[in-house]
Amino acid sequence: MKIDVLTIFPAMFEGPLTESIIKKARQKEILKINTIDIRSFSKDKHKKVDDKPFGGSAGMVMKAEPVYEAIKSAGVKKRNKEYKNPHSKPYVIYMSPQGRTLNGDIAKTLSKFEHLVILCGHYEGIDERIMNFVDDEISIGDYVLTGGELPAMVLIDCVARMIPGVVKEEDSVKNDSFYYNLLDYPHYTRPAVFKGIKVPDVLLSGDHKKIEEWRKKESAERTKKRRPDLLKKARA
Ligand code: SAM
Repeated sequence: MKIDVLTIFPAMFEGPLTESIIKKARQKEILKINTIDIRSFSKDKHKKVDDKPFGGSAGMVMKAEPVYEAIKSAGVKKRNKEYKNPHSKPYVIYMSPQGRTLNGDIAKTLSKFEHLVILCGHYEGIDERIMNFVDDEISIGDYVLTGGELPAMVLIDCVARMIPGVVKEEDSVKNDSFYYNLLDYPHYTRPAVFKGIKVPDVLLSGDHKKIEEWRKKESAERTKKRRPDLLKKARA
């Protein structure tokens, strides 16, 4: 998968996307991540990309022109219906608190695309006319952050985990919370006794069938107690 991130702060992506599992996926070229600096498309001599809002009010608005040029530079030319295979079209996502809230199902669906273009806003947001060139708006929760960069990193990380080959053991992704609308079961590692607290006996029994049953029961009980809404989704 190729991901182009459109941002006015490309340096923010150093670190979170150059370490650990994402780093390995990039080395293996399962994932290609490229940052595009929206500022480089500004025609202003000071490389300004924001301006005062029409109608007046507090804050600034990201201008349409440089954002549009940045989207175009990522190879977005045609409208959706012109692509035979919908997954081969660059899919443009605007990170926005007003978008649909990110969850495991959305991440799974997005992991099937060949090319994501992720747009990060700042200030009061982006000139609304840019939404004509956006396929999806995604929020990472009901709160407002200063910019779209952290949300973009969250999106990239959770979508990347769903791409086959990114996480070595695919089962570990499928056993994780939300994959099947269930929360994960509890995990333990050595030592068997820590500060007087013992690991459940069944996990030391070597009986794989019993361990499997115990894990299923724990997962169902946790979900019922903490996230009954997920159980309803799992049954639907
Ligand atoms: N005025 C906007 C509103 O109230 O809906 C908020 C703008 S926010 C200060 C600046 C940028 O941060 C947004 O354009 C968006 O890209 C990003 N952002 C902030 N909160 C977000 C969230 N919960 N999910 C995704 N992106 C978010």
